Amino acid sequence: MRPDLLNPLFAEATSLKGVGAGLARPLDKLGLTRVRDFLYHLPDRFVQRRAVQTLDEAALGEQIIVALTVLEHRQPAGRGPFRVIAQDSVGNHVAITYFGRASYTAKKSLPVGETRWVAGRLDQFGQTWQIVHPDHVSEDSAGLQGHLTEAVYPLSEGLTQGRIASLIHQSLGQAPRLPEWIEPGLLAREEWPAWHEALARTHQAPDKRARDRLAYDELFANALALMLVRAANRTRAGQPLHGDGHLRAKLNLPFALTGAQSRSIAEIESDMAQGSPMLRLLQGDVGSGKTAVALHAMLVAVEAGGQAALLAPTEILARQHADTLARMARGTGVNIALLTGRDKGRAREALLMNLLDGGIDILVGTHAIFQDSVAYRNLALVVIDEQHRFGVGQRLMLTQKARRTPHCLAMTATPIPRTLTLAQYGEMEVSRLDEMPPGRQAIDTRVVAQERLADVIDGIGRHIAAGHQAYWVCPMVREAENEDLAAAEARHAMLAERFGERVVMVHGQMRPEAKDAAMERFASGEASLLVATTVIEVGVDVPNATLMVIEQAERFGLAQLHQLRGRVGRGSQKSTCLLLRGDMVSKVGRERLALMRETQDGFLLAEEDLRLRGGGELLGTRQSGDTPFRVADFEQIANLLPIAHDDARLLMERDGGLSSPRGEAARVLLYLFERDWGVQLLRGG
Ligand code: ADP
Ligand code: MG
Repeated sequence: MRPDLLNPLFAEATSLKGVGAGLARPLDKLGLTRVRDFLYHLPDRFVQRRAVQTLDEAALGEQIIVALTVLEHRQPAGRGPFRVIAQDSVGNHVAITYFGRASYTAKKSLPVGETRWVAGRLDQFGQTWQIVHPDHVSEDSAGLQGHLTEAVYPLSEGLTQGRIASLIHQSLGQAPRLPEWIEPGLLAREEWPAWHEALARTHQAPDKRARDRLAYDELFANALALMLVRAANRTRAGQPLHGDGHLRAKLNLPFALTGAQSRSIAEIESDMAQGSPMLRLLQGDVGSGKTAVALHAMLVAVEAGGQAALLAPTEILARQHADTLARMARGTGVNIALLTGRDKGRAREALLMNLLDGGIDILVGTHAIFQDSVAYRNLALVVIDEQHRFGVGQRLMLTQKARRTPHCLAMTATPIPRTLTLAQYGEMEVSRLDEMPPGRQAIDTRVVAQERLADVIDGIGRHIAAGHQAYWVCPMVREAENEDLAAAEARHAMLAERFGERVVMVHGQMRPEAKDAAMERFASGEASLLVATTVIEVGVDVPNATLMVIEQAERFGLAQLHQLRGRVGRGSQKSTCLLLRGDMVSKVGRERLALMRETQDGFLLAEEDLRLRGGGELLGTRQSGDTPFRVADFEQIANLLPIAHDDARLLMERDGGLSSPRGEAARVLLYLFERDWGVQLLRGG
């Protein structure tokens, strides 16, 4: 149960004054559904303004606060903007400009003949000064005193800075004081403020100490929860499995396993023979051969009389996995079935019966395979492909399906740096496929300026005329999802005009049937060019596709680019990856793309990406979505996570665990960050 102390923080957003149905939607888009979420909606940056007496004192582009006397309202001619002409104390003229329907408010807040304090950015318009859409207009200077330093928050359509700031302010007012969970020595050494104060300060002005403390809280909560999971897992009753090898002996793979594959299989087999359930992560770059390892593990389970389930993040992947496994396991007589959300009615019933009877040895599917209606005869092993799509909570839920906790093997191709491995998978043992199957060719990677788009398209034309296939990837970054989708669709339309029927498209907002149909046409070779958003990031395997174009490559994380690139270079032919970059790319952005050209080592790329982005690149850090954290940024993760882990261990092993006074506070923290599955496990175990 969540401590009562936290109740005000978990009240619905609609309990805040001024939040009605209309605001709920844009707030929801930002993930702001409860009071707590507002506290942690941290500023992207701060505007620093300077109060000036006259416009002569200000530089062009500067954010200023200045007293202006209104001279005239200038109605637009036709569709032009509405302008308020005003002057400063020495008679300099400035146009305060409003586009769209803002003129009504402008007339009211800036009446002719009156003096007002205006905060905004000083620009130039022809020969005159101008301020476009001032941030604040006030009748007295006191009204703007608090705006000299002002937070700038991430927004969604329908929200304004003022609105979000006032909701955050209201939320802060409702936030209780919380007991201290940070180790006193650490708190003193870092000179961190208490929780409540840290929040208030973080929203007020740039404040590294305050912000670090908040990040640390999140990292500590995560570390502690993972530690609890691990401890609980050790006490769970598992099912020791001893495969006798008779099925694996019948496997007739067209290749010999690599050393890394054999080693991983041995590690897995030894875990599965233990009494406590396996919790192991198989980390291996795209193409490193994780499927074969998974198949071996599943055969061990079946040899020992159990069933195995393989969970894939998408239907496309589930289908592909089922096909691949069936092909690989043909000689073994093992029965492999596919279950997705689309299976309904009789066929589904029959499959479920078969699963309960034990007629199905291996079930492959999307999360549909863990619905309540799905019962296994003896689920002994769960394999999760592309682990990062599932939260730890989900992972726990599905291993609770069986009477005895099944062994769990998670597989990921996301090359994450070691520090993040700890954060994300802290509770797991790790096997790394650090050796590629022989005969892989390097992918020829080139960075190409967007201006050369026409040449690139001609190149595609030649490529598909020669009977090859290609991918065209468009970015989908959460911030501007609709715009991104529109851009991808426009690109598809343009390419389809040129290449006709041979172009197909997939993106995340299509119906699954339509998506599969398009994938099917591409996989069968009927279509030559697949325009896609990042849904193709994981798994898809079409060896004849040997060219990939990635648009606005600078907007992707390196790890993601690397995974995308891994879609080509799967066959014996030479493959090429073209990274199109816009002309606004920063220095760090260029360095990052250059790295893509230089190495194909996913782990190295991940380390470098962390280093480069940790170096203060503002764009694309927090929205990147490739860490489990919302508060802590890359730099904070790198610096504070190891400390958080040590402190979590200290608390559990020296300071009396969750029932000590600091432990009680830490329990509050776990609930605050909704890592309370850790607490629940502890109680259940
Ligand atoms: P991952 O899932 O790790 O990205 P896959 O399991 O899909 O990689 O394997 C990629 C390709 O490499 C597949 O075509 C697979 O058959 C092949 N492969 C796997 N292991 C080996 C090996 N030891 N030698 C040669 N080819 C291999
Ligand atoms: Mg795979």
